[in-house]
Amino acid sequence: MEQLIDVAIIGGGPAGLNAALVLGRARRSVIVIDEERPRNRVTRESHGFLTRDGMNPGEFRKLAKEQIGAYPSVRFAEDTAVAVSGRDGDFWIGTKTGAMYRSRKLLFAVGKKDLPIEINGLAEVYGKSAFVCPYCDGWEMRDQPLVLIARGDGAMHSAMLLSGWTNDTVLCTNGPDGLTPGQRAELDRHRIPVFEASIRAIESTYGIVECVILQDGITIACKGIFFTPRLAPGSDLPQTLGCRLTPSGTVAVDAYGKTNVPGVYSAGDAATELYQVVTAASTGALAAIGINGELLEEAWYGQE
Ligand SMILES: Cc1cc2nc3c(=O)[nH]c(=O)nc-3n(C[C@H](O)[C@H](O)[C@H](O)COP(=O)(O)OP(=O)(O)OC[C@H]3O[C@@H](n4cnc5c(N)ncnc54)[C@H](O)[C@@H]3O)c2cc1C
Repeated sequence: MEQLIDVAIIGGGPAGLNAALVLGRARRSVIVIDEERPRNRVTRESHGFLTRDGMNPGEFRKLAKEQIGAYPSVRFAEDTAVAVSGRDGDFWIGTKTGAMYRSRKLLFAVGKKDLPIEINGLAEVYGKSAFVCPYCDGWEMRDQPLVLIARGDGAMHSAMLLSGWTNDTVLCTNGPDGLTPGQRAELDRHRIPVFEASIRAIESTYGIVECVILQDGITIACKGIFFTPRLAPGSDLPQTLGCRLTPSGTVAVDAYGKTNVPGVYSAGDAATELYQVVTAASTGALAAIGINGELLEEAWYGQE
């Protein structure tokens, strides 16, 4: 029979790692199962996290694990969780390598994942000169000529957002623009040209974009690209266990990461749409506090 531990954390990005840190300090036995495919692995630098601005994401994780190493009740398994079952107080987690873990509580910190990028040449520059979030990478692209790849209301929102970093943006909708006449007039007022033609290719050298070439032959020179990624849940396991999802595939949780399934929590990109390392880490910490509070109450009132 597998040993019953306090908490199994599935996913070891900033959310899962911060939860592990808080739970380790609360003297909880924890297993962090992580397949090591965090969403920001394509980028060299991560920005906006106080004291860690500009740090390489791999370095960030290494440092986090070193610090968590001070708390011996936390273990790590580089593995993929492939099955979950059980109920509050006794969950079973099976992994790809055939390991089995049992835990009282479960935290899904599985993030979100990018669906395959369909524009020719975009994958080569993603994370190097093509980005998804101006708060993460806008500073490095400030005052540069940029191409925004987006459509409809999303394009309007992103164009407005990017105006905080540059006033030299071209919108490529890569097909029908989905804009209303009023939205087109608004873009025109802000001197943002709109091109509807499909994108034939993005040309780059060593990951640094040089231009976007449209099917009709028009070439738009630029130093950077921002685009709206297509995202999917990092794992189907929360749904398998009965966790309610929002229409965009985000696990529905309360302020402490609690899902509708007793004993099951979720944090980070899996459970928010903020998509920042600092918010992933903070929601991981909050979920850890929620889980530990529940375990303490169960012990205190004799339900353990
Ligand atoms: C190109 C790019 C640049 C970015 N730059 C910044 C930036 O500069 N600043 C910033 O604040 N944010 C940035 N972000 C956003 C940031 O990366 C995410 O918000 C953050 O990583 C979310 O943390 P998380 O722990 O929720 O998920 P993740 O970091 O994605 O970690 C989830 C982990 O769970 C694992 N996992 C999933 N399913 C399973 C399973 N079944 N079994 C085991 N493990 C599993 C994954 O492999 C992964 O390791 C960027 C994102 C991208 C795409």
